Amino acid sequence: MKSEKEIGCWTTLSVKEILDSPWLKIAKESCRLPHGKIISDFYTIWQPDWVLILPKTRSGKWVLTKQYRHGTKAISLEFPAGIVDKGESPLEAAKRELEEEVSYLGSSFKFLGEFPMNPDRHRGKFYVFVVNDVEKGGNRTQDETENIVGIELSTEELETKIVALMQDDDITKRSGIYEYLLSGNEKHLNIRVFTDNEKRQVYELQKGICPHCVAEHREKTHYELEEMEADHITPWCEGGKTSVENCQMLCKEHNRRKSNL
Ligand SMILES: [Zn+2]
Repeated sequence: MKSEKEIGCWTTLSVKEILDSPWLKIAKESCRLPHGKIISDFYTIWQPDWVLILPKTRSGKWVLTKQYRHGTKAISLEFPAGIVDKGESPLEAAKRELEEEVSYLGSSFKFLGEFPMNPDRHRGKFYVFVVNDVEKGGNRTQDETENIVGIELSTEELETKIVALMQDDDITKRSGIYEYLLSGNEKHLNIRVFTDNEKRQVYELQKGICPHCVAEHREKTHYELEEMEADHITPWCEGGKTSVENCQMLCKEHNRRKSNL
């Protein structure tokens, strides 16, 4: 095995600040690699250190947060986390964030370790704490960019959700199940669409009539097959299957109106 001396470190030759703000710093560095090669534009990033908290209640449920994240542009399920303020220790930050984000209090904080965010080019790090026996309480003071909901889930509940999704034939991309659970975004699953055969079958059963047009007493209720679109009667996320029994053909206007709800 290679020794640390044989692996070698890079030497920083110069640093140029590209962005210098309290929340984000970016620098362009010129570096010499151990074998002599020079990289003149290696970008490094700095952001304040933060804490990640894994809180568990006395009954064994994990406390998670649900919130909109602008980086991923999605609402996601996460463990509570936040920045370590100036003059604050990681432990103090963990206690404060647990109370601020989800209004839980805990006394037994166990430090699991500190980890680099992205060791390739990120200079910040994060600290991880497990807290057992947390309880509701404390003062919740979210800042103006936060709109966080706290959720309790047991390990079994999380596993049950995963197993049900694994067995769902309408999911054509099983590798997306974890992303779906964490983000709630169905696009990770590639939900199966109705086949042309299924659409034709339902179209013939309905005799080309859009049920919504009938309900609204419209003059025109009959459409050609190409003028209609297939709709899940019970949405997939509420347990509806991609099957003939759960399919209705709607005129394009009504189908779009339904999917915009
Ligand atoms: Zn219609």
